[in-house]
Formats: sequence, structure tokens, C-alpha cells
Amino acid sequence: MIRFSAQLRAALGVQVLLVSAAAAQARPSPSAEVRSYLSVDAPVVALVNVDVVDGTGGPGKRRQTVVISADRITAVGAAGSVAIPAGARVLDLAGHTVIPGIVGMHDHMFYTTPAFTSVQSNYSFPRLYLASGVTTVRTTGSNAPYTELTLKAGIERGEVPGPRIHITGPYLISPGPTRYEGMYELKDEAAARRVVRHWAEEGAEWIKVYTQITRPIFAAVVDEAHKHGLRVTGHLCSISFTEAVELGIDNIEHGFRTNSDYDPAKAPDRCPPGNFEALAALDLGDSRIAATFRAMVAKGVAMTTTTVNEQLAPGRPGPDARTLDAMAPWIGEQETKRRANLDLPKPIGEIYPRMREIYPKSLRYEREFVKAGGLLGAGVDPAFAALPGFGNQRALELLVEGGFSVVEGVQVMTGNGARMLRVDRDLGTVEVGKIADLVVLRGDLLADPSVIRNAVTVFKGGLGFDSGKLLAAVKGQVGVR
Ligand SMILES: [Zn+2]
Repeated sequence: MIRFSAQLRAALGVQVLLVSAAAAQARPSPSAEVRSYLSVDAPVVALVNVDVVDGTGGPGKRRQTVVISADRITAVGAAGSVAIPAGARVLDLAGHTVIPGIVGMHDHMFYTTPAFTSVQSNYSFPRLYLASGVTTVRTTGSNAPYTELTLKAGIERGEVPGPRIHITGPYLISPGPTRYEGMYELKDEAAARRVVRHWAEEGAEWIKVYTQITRPIFAAVVDEAHKHGLRVTGHLCSISFTEAVELGIDNIEHGFRTNSDYDPAKAPDRCPPGNFEALAALDLGDSRIAATFRAMVAKGVAMTTTTVNEQLAPGRPGPDARTLDAMAPWIGEQETKRRANLDLPKPIGEIYPRMREIYPKSLRYEREFVKAGGLLGAGVDPAFAALPGFGNQRALELLVEGGFSVVEGVQVMTGNGARMLRVDRDLGTVEVGKIADLVVLRGDLLADPSVIRNAVTVFKGGLGFDSGKLLAAVKGQVGVR
């Protein structure tokens, strides 16, 4: 691949890249099923008259041309300033917005149903992610990492449609007061090291720890993971954010609602039962919050916001029509009941108390974290009415509700995720030289964040998937397979 010098690019006033024959390397030949979802499959594609929100955090640009050659973006610039290669398939996208492929940072392949059962979803989830514009995911905890490694291999060979997958190993915990079926209890530090080594050898890139883990076991997990080039993220509680940062964690999931830094009754290595009360009472101007952010920023520890947080809060919207359409009918009924109960003044069997107060704070907490210099990514954590893909899209509306601009929100969902996964050389932004993972949205995203829901064509490695066809294939399948 040959790149023009920066000076020449500047002289041309556009970003252009020449692709050598070698760079246009063979993509794996897609299976008949994958081909059946494609609406754009051409060696050179030009998106013209399209608005671009490029994922860098830079301002949105109107009426751009984006050229894709094989699997790469080879030109981006104002309409009229970019030559459209002869023979290109030209898509006139006036009235549309293009963003980078979404990088889902908490995107499991299993579904937590409104009845709190778990359904491994290697059929519906990859299709839902891709249909919604999510072209890269980190699984961020798994009940079945072996099956997910097999799914990843199938996607990479072009046999099944789906996003690029970064595998996370099984949920790791310590023995303790709560029994977590589906997670692995590490009985000592030697076990912690053995398990991490095993998953490193099998292809996991991340390790996920859960709410019940002791500091010595956690420290062994982190040390062994880092030795093997893996990184560690956690849904924390027994260890607070600042403790985890001190012990070397790389990323923290869910944000505010899982931080036990602010509970005066916190005992070492125990998840404090009154943490929700402490969070509900906390003022966001409290100096301890600034201290948490300083510690995270100093060590480069990223945070992931998850759309599922909204699902735990009363007074929020229930499932929309397309969500119910993707769900098996009984899942939709369960969810409608779950939401109705959650909205009662005193819900039955409440697991996440005080979320009416905590949830709006969590949105502002994320905004403050970024203002303090923190790296924020977004994921869905598919559960209840937060489905794969649709939930990733919803993250943008929630980020905007929390005070981010559309441009900043898109950056959180795309460029930041790519940085967290260390794939930002190739992915995460609409820039020349990057892999052509792009989402074409119908409408003006800069004017209306809900346009994020209107994915029309999702490019992954330069191949354009028809969102509608992928969605048709999963109708009624969420909660089944
Ligand atoms: Zn999760």
C-alpha cells in the first residue's frame, strides 16, 4: 500500500490513498447465506452527497464523497473535490449520514431474558449487531467462550454474518456469599493464573471479573493476563474502582451504579449491601468522584457505559415495535410485565433499588469522566429490552441525554472503542487508510440523534450488508437462539 505524503494530501485538499494490488487482498469468499444479505458487493464503491460524522470527535461534514476500494477507505472529501474512480459503484446518499462501524464494548453473545434466564444466542445476536451497524464487538464476559471462539472463526471465514469479535473468557469470581451459576470460582491464586493462561492460549483477548472477587485473586488475574498480553475488565463491587485501578485493571464496566468507592460501610473484599443507598445519596460534586476520575485517568483506565443501565431504572421507555418484533412473543410479554412491575411505587422482588435516583446521575457521571480526561466506550449488555445492536444505537441517545453532543457520542461509540481494543490503526473512524467499516443512516444524524436507529447499509470490510434483510432473518428469534 502506498500513501501520499501529508504535504501532497494537503495540497490536494482531500484525503486520498492509493491501493496497490497487494492491499486489495482476497477477502474470504462469503458463503451463500452471507451473500444473501449483501446489497453492495463491488471492487470500488463511492458514497456521494453524504453527511459524515467521522468518529474522531471532529465536526460533522456535509455533502462528502467517501471512496471504498476493496476493503479500505481510499478517499474522503467534499463533493466535487474527490475524483470518483471509473467503474465505481456510485451510491447517491443525499439525505443520509455515514458514521464508522460501531464498536460494541459490552456486547455479549448471550441474552438475559426478562425472567432472568440466560439464552446463548449465536444465531440472532451476530445478525442483530451487524444489522444495527455494530461491526466490532468485545464479548465482555461469557457463559460459553468455546462456542464464541467457534462463532468468531466462522465469521472470519465468511461462513456466517456477524461483527468482528474480540473474545473475553469466562466470568471469574472468588467463592463468597453469592452463588453465580455460569461463572467460574477461582479457589486460589494458582487457579487464577492457570485459568487466565488457558484462555490466553485459546484466543481470548480480555478477561472479565465479576462483583465477587478478592484483591489477592484479582491481582493474580491481572498479573497473569498482562504477562500474556491480555487485558482485564470488570463489573465490580467487592473491589472499588480506585482499588481496581491500583491493582492494575484496564477497563471498568457499567459506570456509576457499580462503584463502591463512596459507601462508608464498605468492608475489604466484600460487596457492600447498602451501596445503592450510598449512590442515591451522593452529590455529583463530591470530591471523591473527582478523585476516582483522577486515579482512572492517571493509569489510563477506560470506562464502559452500558445501555442496560436504563433497563434497571423506573420511568424509562419500554420496548419499541422493532424490539418486540425481534423477540420471541413470550419474551415480549415477559418484558412488558417486568417493566410494569419496575414502574410500580414498590416493585416486587426489586434487585436494583434506588435506580430512579441513580440512573440520571450515571449519565452525568459519564459526562464528567470524559470532561476529566477519561476514555469512555459504549456497549449494550444485552438484557431485557436492550437488544444487541438496537441497544448499541440507543447508547447515542443516552449519551446525548447525559450532555454529550452527537459528534462526541459517535466518537464514544466508535473511535473510542477502537482505541480501547487497540485496533484504532485500522478501525473506528471514517479516514483514509482505515478498513471500510461504515454505517449508512437514513436522515440527518447531526440534527437528530434518533437517526442512529435508521441503519440502511452496513459496510464491513467494504461489503455492504442490507440491514433489513438481516433483521428479517432474526424476527422472533431473540430468546430462542
Ligand atoms: Zn454484562
